[in-house]
Amino acid sequence: MAVVQLNGQNVTVANVFCIGRNYAAHAAELGNAVEAEPLVFLKPTSSLIAEGEPLRLPAYSSDVHHECELVLLIGKGGNDIAPSEALQHVAGYAIGLDMTARDVQGVAKQKGLPWTKAKGFRGAATVSAFVPAERVSDPDQLVFSLKVNGEARQQGDTRLMLFPVPAIIHYLSTVYGLSAGDLIYTGTPEGVAAVKPGDRLHLELQGLVSAEWSVAG
Ligand code: MG
Repeated sequence: MAVVQLNGQNVTVANVFCIGRNYAAHAAELGNAVEAEPLVFLKPTSSLIAEGEPLRLPAYSSDVHHECELVLLIGKGGNDIAPSEALQHVAGYAIGLDMTARDVQGVAKQKGLPWTKAKGFRGAATVSAFVPAERVSDPDQLVFSLKVNGEARQQGDTRLMLFPVPAIIHYLSTVYGLSAGDLIYTGTPEGVAAVKPGDRLHLELQGLVSAEWSVAG
């Protein structure tokens, strides 16, 4: 059973929703158009690894990319949540990685097949401890960063999201319904790139929380 940390407590994870193409510059770097409504995919909860666990790359890919993202933890579920009420449903905010086997995703996109093998392998989802929502006054004004081996690789600013946090929650709750314990990966900014064995990935969410993972050799 996958769990995440909030206020030193374990919270059992329900669903893992992810938003794709939520930053224009990242959509452009992969040659994708931006979407008229949020692009949603899911990861199995078995793809989550805890902080400090080695990040193992799947043997079937030779091009696994980091995607550093703001992650939401839903505290109170609901259907048809109005954007104006959306933030009341968030229990916490964290920083995480949507690891992506880009070569496998490329084949899936070409064939019109689902992305699960590219996005759902064991270790494809990492997330830091969650900062309680009370400590974040506006999630649409947060900066975050990823360093690889000490070198800046991705800089995020949630002001640049195409679908801001309340719009994402409204959309997911309307189409799928949201439950307590759901995680939402909100999309990655530009700067995605391949990782290799031995790389150290250091993630930080605006001085609120940080976490690190190393790629297994
Ligand atoms: Mg992503």
